[in-house]
Amino acid sequence: MGKSYLAVGFMVAAVAAATVGCKCEKVCGDACETACGAACAVKCECAPAKHVVLIGVDGCGARWIPWDVMPNLKALRDEGLYTVGRCHRPTASAINWKSVFSGVSPEIHGFTKWNSSKPSIEPPASAFDAEGRIPCIFSEIRRQTPGAYTVSLFAWDGIGNCHNTNTVDFARYYGGKGDEYPVRDASVFAEGARQLAKKPTLMLLYQGGVDHAGHSHNWGSPEYTNALAQVDANLGKFMTALKGTDMWKDTAVMFVADHGGLGTHHGGVEDIRVLEIPFIVSGPAAKGLRLREPAMLEDVAPTIAALLGLDAPESWRGRAAVNLP
Ligand SMILES: [Zn+2]
Repeated sequence: MGKSYLAVGFMVAAVAAATVGCKCEKVCGDACETACGAACAVKCECAPAKHVVLIGVDGCGARWIPWDVMPNLKALRDEGLYTVGRCHRPTASAINWKSVFSGVSPEIHGFTKWNSSKPSIEPPASAFDAEGRIPCIFSEIRRQTPGAYTVSLFAWDGIGNCHNTNTVDFARYYGGKGDEYPVRDASVFAEGARQLAKKPTLMLLYQGGVDHAGHSHNWGSPEYTNALAQVDANLGKFMTALKGTDMWKDTAVMFVADHGGLGTHHGGVEDIRVLEIPFIVSGPAAKGLRLREPAMLEDVAPTIAALLGLDAPESWRGRAAVNLP
């Protein structure tokens, strides 16, 4: 192709870009076409979602999922993108949830115990943002899109240490005894359905009862399977509510877990049934996207950022698991 054709091609692309409707007002706004031109329009097209719902189920190993009694999760999988990801070792909760939210591995964020509340290993200085915190997806949404509304609902208090809750607009922990997890988890989904009225940019719905059932009765036991069926029933009610909103058409729903298990344990166990976790990106905003594999848990935050059209901080080591059109 000669130079003149290249020039014409570029002009056509620029004109097309200027007339493409901006799907992501949060990134570009009305100033997009005049201020940024083609480059910005390309970025706008790369932001398929205005809303992301992140469902996190503690201890939901990919190899233990009883798909036949989880029709709602199966629908998310079949209508969206699914891969089997891997968690980090040691295969325990805070270690991996911290990676989910902060886009870095445990060697960087320094959480090394199942219930870490602060780093056991000092993170490198480059891992911190200008406010002196390890940036998480919530703090990045707050920094990059002031005015966005975010929600975090969790049934295990350790989750509160794994993200910057002071940058979340509505954060709530549902406490209680271990055998009260069914009620605590259901409350998370019920409040999540109520929060849809505020059209959250990001909403976390964390479930703790599956992990508790695994520790009490074995991974893969009838009680463990029943706990997952219960999650699915609540997920179904929530999805009905979500699909009834006008935000649904711009929504991506993600589903991940922090580890699986074997017997009544998971931390420190070297077995694929412990290591493998489900990684789902579904909903209307996931249409036309493709998953990059293999997926790791530090890819979750960069994936959410990419879906929403946000920049990933330079310090994040994970990468978006979706290839954008
Ligand atoms: Zn866990």
